[in-house]
Amino acid sequence: ATPQNGAVRNGAFDDRVIEKLYAEVLRRNHGESEFHQAVREVLETLGPLLHARPEFMDARVVERLCEPERQLIFRVPWSDDKGDIHVNRGFRVEFSSSLGPYKGGLRFHPSVNLGIVKFLGFEQIFKNALTGMPIGGGKGGADFDPKGRSDAEVMRFCQSFMTELHRHIGEYTDVPAGDIGVGGREIGYLFGQYKRITNRYESGVLTGKGLGWGGAQARTEATGYGCVMFTAEMLRARGESLEGRRVAVSGSGNVAIYAIEKAQQLGATVVTCSDSSGYVVDDKGIDLALLKEIKEAGRGRVSEYAERRGVHAQFVAGRGVWNVTCDVALPCATQNELDEDDARTLVANGVRAVAEGANMPTTPGAVKVFQEAGVAFAPGKAANAGGVATSALEMQQNASRDSWTFAHTEERLEEIMRHIHEACYTTAERYGVPGNYVVGANIAGFELVADAMLAQGLI
Ligand code: GLU
Repeated sequence: ATPQNGAVRNGAFDDRVIEKLYAEVLRRNHGESEFHQAVREVLETLGPLLHARPEFMDARVVERLCEPERQLIFRVPWSDDKGDIHVNRGFRVEFSSSLGPYKGGLRFHPSVNLGIVKFLGFEQIFKNALTGMPIGGGKGGADFDPKGRSDAEVMRFCQSFMTELHRHIGEYTDVPAGDIGVGGREIGYLFGQYKRITNRYESGVLTGKGLGWGGAQARTEATGYGCVMFTAEMLRARGESLEGRRVAVSGSGNVAIYAIEKAQQLGATVVTCSDSSGYVVDDKGIDLALLKEIKEAGRGRVSEYAERRGVHAQFVAGRGVWNVTCDVALPCATQNELDEDDARTLVANGVRAVAEGANMPTTPGAVKVFQEAGVAFAPGKAANAGGVATSALEMQQNASRDSWTFAHTEERLEEIMRHIHEACYTTAERYGVPGNYVVGANIAGFELVADAMLAQGLI
């Protein structure tokens, strides 16, 4: 049959069809700029695949994927330690269940809104597909600001959040985990409330759990470790390595800390980290034990790191971490933290590789600057997939009531990161853009999801 809805007419691919699809996304999701950005980044790269597989256009796979399967928005009331009542907004966007139960983190941050959750959920679909594990895509969170809140306040917030969320999740339905503002402490409170409401010890309903009660070894480390493993693979493909390299990392949360740790293990010197107030430059290399003590034990700021580290380290207030000269840049803080000007500065200072530890930290203009300068650039959906991949390993252990050693889990993580690199690399080559990991990741991830959608019928 001749394709009726397709972009392909008489064998010629029409780019205007992609523009029309994107215009429809803009119209339907008014004002959600981060979601628009994430969709555009994927659509821009799909032309050659849609040309090769016209059945995807006929089945309206792109339109279906741009519309979440389900979007939940709910009220989260809670009272602070003084007894004052607050109301926050909770979200869970269940984007795609083609490959498995919805899977993706929860973000607690004042900037969270529907558009942010949708951009994260959309990215998660393809990221999760790339891992090769049976997980669909979803994301959630709340506009709650945990900064300055006591443990008891965070607990009451988590309990209230789960009081609504519990009816929508389950080990075969939707499996949340952490993201910005949600770590081991929050997952503990969320799990406790889920168990209390449902009267089920359903280990596989959340990942990122504590090691003594169903959590996986190396899950905490996985996103940062995986990002550096991916970077090492990219460099290896160019006949280079991390050994002796100078690395700039932004952020100082879970992803940044373990990216620093793995980079150091592989012989690099990491000279920066940052938070929302500024950044640290430490030419001798970040003292990770000190940073962990300040951030993990004390929930402190990086300025305190510089004070305690002494003369080696300098704290600089404000943005600017990308002005620091480095061979490798790992943005591990948040979306759109590295813009076109930053990219030009990094290129002028000789950067060789950039890998996204955070989700979409590099603006589209900055990505273009890196690609045109021949810098190896790894998009987050490939480079930071180690976290969610290890969540899938946690689900696997929960399902079989097993627990693996750190060494075994790390080995699995390394295999998965190598597999993702290989998939992106060979796909980019096959489509005539060798070394373009953005195209490689998008096409490889999209094709897996789209094939499953075709097989499962119109749903
Ligand atoms: N929030 C992480 C991500 O962006 C992890 C999600 C998970 O483990 O489900 O991929």
